[in-house]
Amino acid sequence: MESVTQETDLQSIFTEIDNSFDEIVSWRRYLHQHPELSFEETETAKYIADKLEDFGLVVKKNIGGHGLIGILTGAQAGKTIALRADFDALPIEDEKNVPYKSLNPGVMHACGHDGHTTALLATAQTLSKYREKIKGKIIFIFQPAEEQPPGGAKFMIEENVLDGVDYVFAAHLDSKVPIGKASVGAGYKMAAVDKFEVKIQGIGGHGARPQDSVDSIVIGSEIVNSLQKIVSRRIDPLESAVVTIGVFHAGSAFNIIADTAKLEGTVRTFSESVRKQVKEEIYSIVEGITKGFHAHFEIDYLHGYPALYNHLEESALVQNLLSDVFSEENVIDMDASMGAEDFSYFLLEKPGTYFKVGSQNEDQNTQYPHHHPKFDFDERALLNIEKSFVKIVAHYLF
Ligand code: MN
Repeated sequence: MESVTQETDLQSIFTEIDNSFDEIVSWRRYLHQHPELSFEETETAKYIADKLEDFGLVVKKNIGGHGLIGILTGAQAGKTIALRADFDALPIEDEKNVPYKSLNPGVMHACGHDGHTTALLATAQTLSKYREKIKGKIIFIFQPAEEQPPGGAKFMIEENVLDGVDYVFAAHLDSKVPIGKASVGAGYKMAAVDKFEVKIQGIGGHGARPQDSVDSIVIGSEIVNSLQKIVSRRIDPLESAVVTIGVFHAGSAFNIIADTAKLEGTVRTFSESVRKQVKEEIYSIVEGITKGFHAHFEIDYLHGYPALYNHLEESALVQNLLSDVFSEENVIDMDASMGAEDFSYFLLEKPGTYFKVGSQNEDQNTQYPHHHPKFDFDERALLNIEKSFVKIVAHYLF
């Protein structure tokens, strides 16, 4: 479908990308050695801004916190494509034995955001050399604080980074997928994540005189058990939901009836209607059980990231485009997961898709799961993310 000239151009751009490998690996290793926690990424933001300015892009800083964008305007008018990378690290001690190990004690790029940032910077560098070819505009979005709700995406969007944007895309490394492969898929791919706390107020008393007390432990236990029935008995079995109680605090001595109990849990869902329903069922169960046993309750319900929904048309398009980059058999279906990702906010505003690029090889060091203290990746994945982005941009703007 694409013109012969465009194909030749892309081949020569891809060769150029391959030749830049050593340079971009050095960026990635610098970022890897200097990780910063969510909402504290001042130095990383400066590093990114300096590079974007070097490439001659228009840079806007401090957007909704440490967020920043680079704008590349082509020689001719056309659509506007946004590409997004996240750049925060995690509170994990780096246990790798490599020369580029984290220099920041207790902080580590254990999810690969150093890779996402490097690949997007590299994309900006490459495309900045082809301004005369570009019909339209590219917004390179560098987003802080993906790992820590309320996240950075929401605040950047509130500062209008998506104004005038037609499509938005992002990529994530995937240590479960071999190098040279990518995964793409339409529909719900990551869950909405909500958190709740339930405080049960009973009446404390002597362990030998239950008739004078309201036992918050017994009531809390009923609640924990009943909450597990929301998914099995209240939700459409063809939908997905998880209700997990991770905290149950109560009591101080073996012979005292506990005055209060506190539960904390998480809810993971895909569809907004199921998300709303689970919340309502939690309130109804807590209210019903506490009332039945003469206790009082308080619920604190916090809405986290919404579910990530990959748009149908753009997912199909990216699947086709990446088949050209990686070959058809190397583009696999993306697994859905009950994990979360705040790129979901971008996809609520604009059509686009979030895809994954394989980063493991035969070496055990590239096979640890994301967020593991030894997490690392095959750095050739940086080239693969960059080529994917360039291919997408070329489709719309060349
Ligand atoms: Mn991540």
